[in-house]
Amino acid sequence: GRNLAKRFGGKKGLFHSSPTVYAVNDVSIAVWPGETFAIVGESGCGKSTLARLLLRLIEPSDGDVLYQGKDITKLSASDMRSLRSEMQIIFQDPFASLNPRMTVGSIIAEPIRLHGLAKGKAVDDRVAELLRIVGLRPEYADRYPHEFSGGQRQRIGVARALAGQPKLIIGDEPVSALDVSIQAQVINLLEDLKEQFGLTLIIVAHDLAVIRHMSDRVAVMYLGEVVELSPVDPLYEKPLHPYTQTLLDAIPVPVPGHREKRSLARGDVPSPTNPPPGCRFHTRCPFALQKCREVHPPLEDVGGGRFVACHLWREIQEQDHPSAPLDG
Ligand code: SF4
Ligand code: MG
Repeated sequence: GRNLAKRFGGKKGLFHSSPTVYAVNDVSIAVWPGETFAIVGESGCGKSTLARLLLRLIEPSDGDVLYQGKDITKLSASDMRSLRSEMQIIFQDPFASLNPRMTVGSIIAEPIRLHGLAKGKAVDDRVAELLRIVGLRPEYADRYPHEFSGGQRQRIGVARALAGQPKLIIGDEPVSALDVSIQAQVINLLEDLKEQFGLTLIIVAHDLAVIRHMSDRVAVMYLGEVVELSPVDPLYEKPLHPYTQTLLDAIPVPVPGHREKRSLARGDVPSPTNPPPGCRFHTRCPFALQKCREVHPPLEDVGGGRFVACHLWREIQEQDHPSAPLDG
């Protein structure tokens, strides 16, 4: 996506005017084929909106989305429809995203029929195969979603996404509605399928805990903007943006007695209807200077595939790691 923006509302009615919500503001990201790209941020940061923009499930207010060199925001409805099978989404809530009146078999068969990938008996065979691929029994095709647990329903959602033979799957918080014990199973399933079918994955998450071991690169979003973009290991070892540090500090520490790091961010996330001027994080950032309140920091290429939008990232690094240069 290039220079993507999405504003909601802002219409003037006769008796009211609804505020404009700046959900995504001038975001540019490139996702490489075969990688797992994570988009992370607190609720309301615009990550789900960005995911939907990338799939053109919603139309951008500005910017474009290039998919294999084509700007998909300019494709006609019918060209878009044929591209749809290549790009699938798995939703957060497996309870809400499966039609309760359809059998599991017909839910999974829908994209197969829609995209003309099989006919007649071959559809049933394909459904049985997909159920097996996601670790469910083929006989489940005749049952209804309510007969399954949360983890099983998310597997059904994955089977439905695979049915269109996608190249790209976006998971919008695909495990955050599941029990912690089930989360790892679904993550492992996604990783296996990625290998098996050569998929590109985009995973949207609200914290940095879940995505660490499956992602190649991570984009951290705050109030509709990407504030840090980095390969996964350096991001966890040496976060450059104060907000990324805050997200890392929020990960529960598994070892009792482990040293708690200082938690940086103070206060609540400001409303996206009226984002702060300058750096949007300045109202919560302990390092903020006058410049931060006035000048918007651009996403700066700092080398090693890393990008950060902070006026003071060098000085902050120097403070935290006085003798360690960025790529040392
Ligand atoms: Fe904090 Fe200033 Fe950096 Fe924004 S630009 S994150 S306010 S130090
Ligand atoms: Mg969301």
